[in-house]
Amino acid sequence: MRVNRNYANLEDNYLFATVSSKVAEFKEANPNKKLIYMGIGDVTRPLCEEVINELKSAVSDMANPETFMGYGPYQGYDFLRKSVAKYYADHGANIDLDEIFISDGAKSDCGNILDIFGNDQKVLIPDPVYPVYLDTNVMAGNKIIFANANEENGFLPLPDRNVDVDIIYICSPNNPTGAVYNRKQLKDWVDYANEKDAIILFDSAYEAFIVDKDLPRSIFEIEGAKTCAIEICSLSKTAGFTGTRCGFTIVPKDLKRDGSSINDMWLRRQTTNFNGVSYIIQRGAAAVFTEKGSQQIRESLDYYGKNADAIGKAMNEMGIWYTGGKNSPYIWLKCPNNMDSWKFFELLLNDIQVVGTPGSGFGKNGEGFFRLTAFGNYEDTIEGMNRLKSIF
Ligand code: PLP
Repeated sequence: MRVNRNYANLEDNYLFATVSSKVAEFKEANPNKKLIYMGIGDVTRPLCEEVINELKSAVSDMANPETFMGYGPYQGYDFLRKSVAKYYADHGANIDLDEIFISDGAKSDCGNILDIFGNDQKVLIPDPVYPVYLDTNVMAGNKIIFANANEENGFLPLPDRNVDVDIIYICSPNNPTGAVYNRKQLKDWVDYANEKDAIILFDSAYEAFIVDKDLPRSIFEIEGAKTCAIEICSLSKTAGFTGTRCGFTIVPKDLKRDGSSINDMWLRRQTTNFNGVSYIIQRGAAAVFTEKGSQQIRESLDYYGKNADAIGKAMNEMGIWYTGGKNSPYIWLKCPNNMDSWKFFELLLNDIQVVGTPGSGFGKNGEGFFRLTAFGNYEDTIEGMNRLKSIF
């Protein structure tokens, strides 16, 4: 009997555990001090009314023999896939229904998608980035090459044509840096992937935070993407579905590699390993795309957007270099006075009781940087920024 030995190559990531234990220690020693949490990557606003109404109505359907629903279609119900297709069409990307696969969120598909690729792939992963890309590829035993994101390139690395790769991860708007690729930059990645016969895995989990109309919300807004990209998206941050679980993955029918249709392979993988997202949740998800639903989720997105603006404004006032804050719920700042990420974390916790996330936990290029999020409440965000301004 053998286990997957690649698991032994995983590095322990103590980032959030260390943050929690340092915060718990501080609270115990200082029970009367009010902490402001600006490290949260989870949403805090509840599901909108339209979603709740649809969820309730779908629960009632399950109580009646006439309306009860059992196993659903593998790729998701047509009513939801049609809403997703229209959502894409509204942003200038034409997607067919059979290119849309409803999922239980982006994280599962980020990992599962590797099932359909062979072993020993050369994988390009930005540094810093959402840690799931790295860990799932270590588990798969792939060869990892990092694309360096740094202050010089505004945390938006571009392709290096001297490097040959098979799989390319792009996360835009990015977690943790909040940086967003423009059309020209994404076109460069698409051209590179087509030249190298590689596949881009485009994570658009934060696309709904884009307010600048010139910025692409989907890779499929870029010409040539249908022959080289898969897009993984989620309602987690868009509509507060982190605990409800629903997302969608787009696999174009024009995407072929090694003589195989990637869409056919993904369908085969999903029909074998996945029995779909619950009817109730898909009904709730469809409500996100209705006129009323999209207005209601916009209110929460605007709420977070206002927090992000306030953080960005405070950074400008303090003269602190940062990315994100606009078109993203994340603000990625350069720690003042060349402090390292953990030193800055300790300073904020001990001196002003603001909790954020050390950038070094997202990759080696994150050292010296720090992530603040806009997912808290507005009053606390303002208070947090006032406290920061009192020391910088
Ligand atoms: N992709 C990125 C970049 C994320 O930051 C997250 C969650 O924080 C996810 C995917 C996971 O999203 P989901 O809740 O849909 O699994």
